[in-house]
Amino acid sequence: MQTFSGVGVAPGRVLGPVRQMPKPVQEPRGNVNIPADVTVESQGQRIKDAAKAVQAELRARAATASGEGKEVLEATAMMAADPMLVKSAIRLLSPAAPGGARTAERAVWEAAATVAESLKALGGYMAERVADVLDVRARIVSELRGLPAPGIPASDVPFILAAEDLAPADTATLDPAKVIALITSSGGPQSHTAILARALGLPAIVAAPGVDGIADGMEVYLDGAAGTVTVDPGEDLRLAAKAWANQASTLAAFSGSNVMADGFRVPLLANVGTGADAVKAAEAGAEGVGLLRTEFCFLDRDDEPTVEEQIAAYGAVFAAFPGKKVVVRTLDAGADKPLPFLTNADEPNPALGVRGYRTDLTSPGVLERQLEAIAAAEAVNQAEVWVMAPMISTADEAAHFASLCAAAGLRTPGVMVEVPSAALTAATVLREVSFASLGTNDLTQYAMAADRQLGPLATLNDPWQPAVLQLVKLTADGAAAASAASGTAKPVGVCGEAAADPALAVVLVGLGVATLSMSARALAAVSTVLATVTMAQAQQLAAVALAASSASAARQAVRAQLPILDELGL
Ligand code: PEP
Ligand code: MG
Repeated sequence: MQTFSGVGVAPGRVLGPVRQMPKPVQEPRGNVNIPADVTVESQGQRIKDAAKAVQAELRARAATASGEGKEVLEATAMMAADPMLVKSAIRLLSPAAPGGARTAERAVWEAAATVAESLKALGGYMAERVADVLDVRARIVSELRGLPAPGIPASDVPFILAAEDLAPADTATLDPAKVIALITSSGGPQSHTAILARALGLPAIVAAPGVDGIADGMEVYLDGAAGTVTVDPGEDLRLAAKAWANQASTLAAFSGSNVMADGFRVPLLANVGTGADAVKAAEAGAEGVGLLRTEFCFLDRDDEPTVEEQIAAYGAVFAAFPGKKVVVRTLDAGADKPLPFLTNADEPNPALGVRGYRTDLTSPGVLERQLEAIAAAEAVNQAEVWVMAPMISTADEAAHFASLCAAAGLRTPGVMVEVPSAALTAATVLREVSFASLGTNDLTQYAMAADRQLGPLATLNDPWQPAVLQLVKLTADGAAAASAASGTAKPVGVCGEAAADPALAVVLVGLGVATLSMSARALAAVSTVLATVTMAQAQQLAAVALAASSASAARQAVRAQLPILDELGL
């Protein structure tokens, strides 16, 4: 038995064959000498055959896929069938073409780049097809090279997906009926792989060096809480996977009202990105939405969505939660979530650059139009709408955001606390707004100066770091001071991934956090564990975690006092 260790980011004990995510397709070299016996005709035929094979494969996959994945596959299949790309690639094979003859791979690469450029220039809907063209290009080049197609591998049987890391675009076609767990050699606990895994309820481990080298088809056992992957597991681990499958169904339900052992209420809310997510979250019992990531509605857009489009997107979320709280976050573009109409791809340090609220400096008007759309969507729905800005660093920024909200007629402005300066000055920041929400993903990356996407920094990038917990406490204490000074409650919630870790959720509540927002899949586990502790016990566990000398010591000391976690495999 060989065991790989990483950082467990979503619990679960499962058994299954590994399928490796193919490596990204490399650009074919230009200026290659083409042997005299390779004819333009034979190369042209290879391109036609490869395009046909890609099209057939995509159509077959679309036929068995569902939801968003099906749409993506159908759109890509249509693009593969477009004769324009094949024709322009064939033209580039000729020695008479500008720049001379190319190999079939190079000709497809360049032809697709030209098609992509012209679609981009047309703007709007056509520009949104650029990603499809580039995907088709990668598939045709892989086919020509005899390599596996890029993207999530097709499979008839459920499998554990292994990769170096997953990007948001890779995961659009991820079918949770086929992919039963995720393991990556890179990627931090706050990376997109981790967020996606939690959203889909898939057990996952990140930053496990070597897992991207496990042979395709090899059976492994994965424990998402322990962070271990075992190749060729023995009988005891097979039984553990079976036991998990049986008890996971009992953990699947959340009553819709989270109560601690002493009757203390801590509302559990959901993190969502779209109306469809919101419907699922409401079905899962979420007591509202604690984070609507509005940039997720427009990740594939090259241009600013119109106010009408925004009203429709936000209204779909509000409609799922009549009479309940929905916290809308204004566009958090930049770093791991670039939006071409707001962010500059050439910034040297995107995580420290013009991102989140700061894009108001470089693209004035976008924020005002978004607030106008949120207010208009609120007016025709029954949800209780709160609005917050991401990446707020100073009280002045908070005051400016609050003034824009007031001008738009939005009554409950707030800020995300994810920059350490905002945590350190929470009492003054909260003087300006009605609430705060701790974004522990970014707060951890900035407190520890460790890029949240980097696997090698995963140990630093851990919200259990006592330094991060100190910042959470400072924020809660600052908000309490601002509440006392103003005579109005200024609640602090957590909407980072930390809230979805049941043990850490207990600590956060003990530190003074009033609400927790998480992927809907985590609600049941978090409420099951919170129901076993009183507020006094949570406060005692928070003190234990704060006093620990390291993240792992904090985690261990708290977990030791919550035996229910091991019983449930959490
Ligand atoms: C966070 O930073 O914790 C957060 C919730 O925002 P995002 O993960 O979208 O940056
Ligand atoms: Mg953030």
